[in-house]
Amino acid sequence: MPETIYPLDSTKKFTDQQIVGHNRWHPDIPAQVHVKPGDSFRVDCREWFDGAIVNDDSADDIRDAPLNTVHVLSGPFAIEGAEPGDLLIVDILDVGAIPQETGPLAGQGWGYTGIFAKQNGGGFLTEQFPDAYKVIWDFKGQRATSRHVPHVEFTGIVHPGLMGTAPSHELLQRWHKREGDLIATDPDRVPPLALPPEPSDAVLATLTGDDFDRVAAEAARTAPPRENGGNQDIKNFTKGSRVFYPVFVPGANLSMGDLHFSQGDGEITFCGAIEMGGYLDLHVDLIKGGMETYGIGENAMFMPGNVDPQYSEWIAFSGTSVTLDDKQHYLDSHLSYQRACLHAIDYLSKFGYSPEQAYMILGAAPIEGRLSGVVDIPNSCSTVYIPTAIFDFDVKPSAKGPQQIDPGMGVPKSSF
Ligand code: ZN
Repeated sequence: MPETIYPLDSTKKFTDQQIVGHNRWHPDIPAQVHVKPGDSFRVDCREWFDGAIVNDDSADDIRDAPLNTVHVLSGPFAIEGAEPGDLLIVDILDVGAIPQETGPLAGQGWGYTGIFAKQNGGGFLTEQFPDAYKVIWDFKGQRATSRHVPHVEFTGIVHPGLMGTAPSHELLQRWHKREGDLIATDPDRVPPLALPPEPSDAVLATLTGDDFDRVAAEAARTAPPRENGGNQDIKNFTKGSRVFYPVFVPGANLSMGDLHFSQGDGEITFCGAIEMGGYLDLHVDLIKGGMETYGIGENAMFMPGNVDPQYSEWIAFSGTSVTLDDKQHYLDSHLSYQRACLHAIDYLSKFGYSPEQAYMILGAAPIEGRLSGVVDIPNSCSTVYIPTAIFDFDVKPSAKGPQQIDPGMGVPKSSF
């Protein structure tokens, strides 16, 4: 096991740790740890809400989820010799939950998936699921089960939801311009089209005083993926992955967090993976001038790890770019993936699951989402694939009709 150079104490809040990380992107957030090309090291990561979500049977904490506090990131890590224009190679040597079985924090034997209320972030299907819900998943080795979603068990594809390099000042300005322009098209929308800088609850490593105030007012939120990688939520960033990040500032200033025990493609409930705290073992190296050499300037590229669970049989659902009230959209793959997911939810509901249970399965289990057709005007075709082996009953259609399961206590909903 590599040396832990970024330790976190599970009994302390993010801001009380020995090394304080950050929850915004800005080039002036100072690096907290220095490493060299060729180094291997262990980084502890907090669960993205820093312990605000607890292991119980109420979704009130999801309803009240403090979105201004996310994502609590470990870092920044400065890589010696990294200069703008280089490519930073990050190997994920290992990734896992907090290595102990008891305790209060997500990652200590359990994690959660949430559906955010439409008034507090929303999600992919927020029109159909406007309220807050939560599911607790229990970990046993690589396996996840839930008292809130019975008759399902699957192998987690553990990965970091978020990792990336610091933006340059110039890149940060571009983010603000284009995201601000989008917000301006419908500034009062619920949920918002994008998140502008938010000084309240900003954590900026060791910055203080005037520097803190200036950076807090300018720093970008961590919710979206951007050119620096960021919150890409790619479930295939497993152990064994090699990721290539553009370098925009001297030292690269790499940061990471938002670990997931498992996730379906799309992370569709927004809080849609199985969220947890844990550790990452990383190895870093550089390709000098690699952004130009390989044409990698506008986002990260990666070589996925090869530890996917071995599922060989799937049921797949298709959707097209037509709304539920039959309005035709032009090649809208976001809409067609929504329709594919709603199609799958309707199907699973026939076996006795509530729609919320089915939605949570799609968010958390290792389902595959694909853009199957994007040229056949006017309909794009998206598909979602669910492994049949995650269910302890026969989920395939047959002339006998759907076997009825006991849905148990169901998915906790928030009170109002
Ligand atoms: Zn996450």
